[in-house]
Amino acid sequence: MPNGVVTPYASSKVSIPVLNYHSVTIDPGNVVVISPAKLEAQMKYLSDHGYTPISLTTFINLIEKKSVHAAPDKPVLLTFDDGYVDNVEEAMPILAKYNFPATLFMSPGMVEDAGYLNWEQVKQLQQAGWDIQPHGMTHPHLPKLSAEQQAYEITEARKLIEEKLGTQADVFCYPYGEYNQTTLKVLKDYGFRYAFTIDQGYTTNQQYPYSLKRLFINGEESLKAFINKLPKTN
Ligand SMILES: [Zn+2]
Repeated sequence: MPNGVVTPYASSKVSIPVLNYHSVTIDPGNVVVISPAKLEAQMKYLSDHGYTPISLTTFINLIEKKSVHAAPDKPVLLTFDDGYVDNVEEAMPILAKYNFPATLFMSPGMVEDAGYLNWEQVKQLQQAGWDIQPHGMTHPHLPKLSAEQQAYEITEARKLIEEKLGTQADVFCYPYGEYNQTTLKVLKDYGFRYAFTIDQGYTTNQQYPYSLKRLFINGEESLKAFINKLPKTN
């Protein structure tokens, strides 16, 4: 069991929807892209119906049952994968309007690439209340790599984020949702606390800390389909 994980199999179940977004722009037909207007409608729905997007720290405290006195109503974790430049241009202002935090899983080896955030923009997101966490250096298919290569992809991404942002970056997100036993060993050896997959479902404190589920947000789906994914009560 990794350090810091206190009650992964506690009898009392904590269940939190972790929404998985990627790019926020206009790209009809692409299910991994959501338009700014649709994201806005979803955030308005969350706001109007008493859902509370939470920081990654609050999420972990809830999963570990550390802040029961301050448990928010209908908590939701908003996550954005890959680090697209539209996250700062489109998503950040929409979330700021509702004072919603989010978590970004980025690949630091791609910050110079066209269409991706640069470090200045990543810092802007951090200042706007986004938690920044690693998604591999170059967004590789981890199971295809050697143990040494996997360790580099995982730990170098963490190191760069921690150096550039002065933050703790020990919550991983598997590129393509792919991992194997070597990946799990690297995460454990380097003291990562949690890792997110793309397995579908609410995240609970009864899941293995390195195989937390999320809910993929299909950018082509209706608001009604989005609403149907959400829990109706706490
Ligand atoms: Zn990704």
